Amino acid sequence: MPGFEIFGEEERSEVQEVLGTGVLMRYNFDGPRKGIFKAKDFEETLARRLGARHAHLVSSGTAALQVMLASCGVGAGDEVIVPSFTFVATIEAIVAAGAAPVFADIDETLCLCPKAAAKALTPRTKAIMPVHMCGSMGRIDELEMLCKEKGLMLLEDACQALGASYKGKALGLFGRMGCFSFDYVKTITCGEGGGIITDDADLYFKAQAFSDHGHDHIGQDRGAEDHPFIGLNFRISELNAAVGLAQLRKLDRILTTQRTNKAILKDALASIPGIRFRDLPDPAGDSATHLSFFMETEDKARAMAKALPAHGVDGVFYWFDNNWHYIRRWDHIRNMTSLAGLPLGLRHDTPDYSGLYLPVSDAIMGRTLSMQIRLGWTDADMEKRINGIKKAFASL
Ligand SMILES: *Cc1c(COP(=O)(O)O)cnc(C)c1O
Repeated sequence: MPGFEIFGEEERSEVQEVLGTGVLMRYNFDGPRKGIFKAKDFEETLARRLGARHAHLVSSGTAALQVMLASCGVGAGDEVIVPSFTFVATIEAIVAAGAAPVFADIDETLCLCPKAAAKALTPRTKAIMPVHMCGSMGRIDELEMLCKEKGLMLLEDACQALGASYKGKALGLFGRMGCFSFDYVKTITCGEGGGIITDDADLYFKAQAFSDHGHDHIGQDRGAEDHPFIGLNFRISELNAAVGLAQLRKLDRILTTQRTNKAILKDALASIPGIRFRDLPDPAGDSATHLSFFMETEDKARAMAKALPAHGVDGVFYWFDNNWHYIRRWDHIRNMTSLAGLPLGLRHDTPDYSGLYLPVSDAIMGRTLSMQIRLGWTDADMEKRINGIKKAFASL
């Protein structure tokens, strides 16, 4: 999955160009920068590659989510429906916006279940934020329809799904805005970085201004720019953008390798009785960062999570026990409303999460295992993995 596996001369030479001018800031300094605008190039390349009218880079995927929420006017008094399985940043961004996350079940796509989302609606619901987990899509068309029907905003956390699509349209483009992460372990990396895409010119204007103190970026003189509204600093540096630009040019190569390697592993696993794979609403659009499958029971999944590494198969995730990605172990969120002295202020009416229990999600996640797909595997590595997988299953 991660672009960090394939750093090369391309990344080095992009960074060298920036260091050659010494202009590490993405805006202004038009004389000394000698026409070098890495963040801008990255944005144009990203928009073109994904078929979006606009793309804007920020300092992280988490920042992208915050900028998206701010640009869409989601804040105090609002509720945002989120899936129980995500990365905790989705929740953090909503809380930081002063809104309240409302958790709904996933289904066997490992993403937000449209029926569960519909059940979680309240008069305060402002947006639904599906998260395309582990490189593949949720039921994005059904979620889009639900939002249309109910007059809600669809906002996509596509941080893990760069290059994935549903019926030919890039994930991230179904919502009013969509977010990507380019942190160190994502499909491509800037070191740290994030991106937002949208077809809406007004939202794009808000996003680029909000992420730079509200500067409107009209004209050449930073001192003379207007500030139509208040913002923060979520700028990306030219150094990070330079790395990401080189990585973005490798995206299609990365996707091809991931898809090839995943297909080989999937074929090998398919012959093992009792295994079922994650639902993919459009298999052709899978970015193939992970291979996720279900064991028959939680006990078998737990046993397999141990047996695979014991047989030399690394990069296996049992999310049910993971405290970064699944609600069951998020005690800090469960206890959010009862903790004193929080670094973030909460609305007085933030829901009480302490009794939150999602048995449908638990029943799915308890049986789910994911294997990370790597780019650097040789044929020999693949063969060793397949043998390891078969031995692990035989050992149960
Ligand atoms: C990585 C990730 C984020 C946050 O991205 P950062 O760049 O690490 O801040 C948000 N949501 C999901 C689903 C992620 O996987």
